[in-house]
Amino acid sequence: MSRVYKPLPRFKLVSRVENAVRVDAVKGSEPRTPELEIPRPMGARVGERGSSKLVSVWERLQPLLYITPTGRPPLVKGGIVGGEEKRNGTTLGPGFRVYKIRVNKVNKDRLKVLYNYVIHKRDGNIPKGLLYYWEEWARMFENSKRQREEAGKRTPPKAPPLPLLVKFVMPDGERRGNTAAPCAIDLCKGELRIPSYGVVQRLPRRLVDALIVENSLDPRPDFVLQVTRKGFLRLIASRAPPPKQSGGLLLVCMDENLGHGLYTTLISFDGEEVRVARGPTFKPPNAALLRGIAAQLQGAADTGTTAALHTLIEKAYEELGEKREVEGGELYATPDRLRELRRRVCAREKRLNREWRNSVVAWLRRAVRENADARAVVLVDEVTAETARLLRRVTKRLRNLCAYEGAEYKPLRASGKLCPRCSAKGVEVAHRVYKCPRCGLEWNRDRAATFALALNYAKIAKSEALRKALLEWLNEHPRALLS
Ligand SMILES: [Zn+2]
Repeated sequence: MSRVYKPLPRFKLVSRVENAVRVDAVKGSEPRTPELEIPRPMGARVGERGSSKLVSVWERLQPLLYITPTGRPPLVKGGIVGGEEKRNGTTLGPGFRVYKIRVNKVNKDRLKVLYNYVIHKRDGNIPKGLLYYWEEWARMFENSKRQREEAGKRTPPKAPPLPLLVKFVMPDGERRGNTAAPCAIDLCKGELRIPSYGVVQRLPRRLVDALIVENSLDPRPDFVLQVTRKGFLRLIASRAPPPKQSGGLLLVCMDENLGHGLYTTLISFDGEEVRVARGPTFKPPNAALLRGIAAQLQGAADTGTTAALHTLIEKAYEELGEKREVEGGELYATPDRLRELRRRVCAREKRLNREWRNSVVAWLRRAVRENADARAVVLVDEVTAETARLLRRVTKRLRNLCAYEGAEYKPLRASGKLCPRCSAKGVEVAHRVYKCPRCGLEWNRDRAATFALALNYAKIAKSEALRKALLEWLNEHPRALLS
């Protein structure tokens, strides 16, 4: 009987390092503005009359909230109006990726002119392609105006971004997308062009590479370019691949845990045997420390306390990665300086959290894409606690990712305290290590929870073959769940 923890050869990405994966080690080609990738429940809030809620920035960016007039392709294929549809906990409808495109000053001014001309139809000679989504834009604006009124706000809403058709020139010269599109993204020359307004913007290599990959996906995503009233650009890719019917099964088991991070285990099943590989553990950044420092700085700024300020400021700089001697604390102790330092500490906390979320999302995307022939099911034991904002935000992004990549998302519950083999209640024998009083199995609580997710999935999917294969694997690797 082999006692070796058999890794899956196909999961090239899987880190063999048990412990925390460094955040910067997994930076992928994730978009620059990941927050925008989170799809909020749609339709119900924006489309519904009498809803008192305001249209959020995200919702104003949504290209798919409004049905396109007949005879024209919808902004997003497969777009659903009327809310996030759910079936067996699986989210239907497309997933999004949002790419922020940086533009220089000259182009930004030209884009502002474009925006104002098009929304007011100020110029009789505006090329037809630019007006393609004008009606949708106008309706979006009307909707948000009405909602603001209903909410009793006096000030008018900000004008939503203007969606534009976009076409691509691939590195081999092949053209993709609607030929009438006013915007061309040339992946050969690495630039974005809107000839009718003289916009030519160089694109960073990273973005060009990412867009080449997205364009070669099957099915290819739909792309819409958004021009904001301030002249900023966002490229939105949306995609809703049909779920795979054939092929092996890939279970991505993720156990969200407030204090201990996110544990991941990959399990593939070919119908007879399972293969199990440990994924990385994503330890959340120590935000509590930064928050503590920020609160103390705020307190000191408000009250003018000088006690122990020297140490506090030094600690703040250390966390900002600028370790330095602070000479003469009074020099730094003006309230304004303290508030500035506090602002920087808060910004750092935000950045660490964002990078953490990005690393989780990048890893899952790679896991799903590298096993594209398998039917991927992402099992997540979600943390729903009000305090776990970081985890709840990552959960939203995982759902969105699944919709975009054609994976199934399943929230499930699993306990790490019960024996995965015989379901007896385990006894804690070491820190987060449990032993079964009935069958003697030992396991790490967090690791076992990911395995239990797969077992629970076998139960709800009524797959006796999967359940048997999982238990067989466990019998062959009785110490595998210990780390
Ligand atoms: Zn047991």
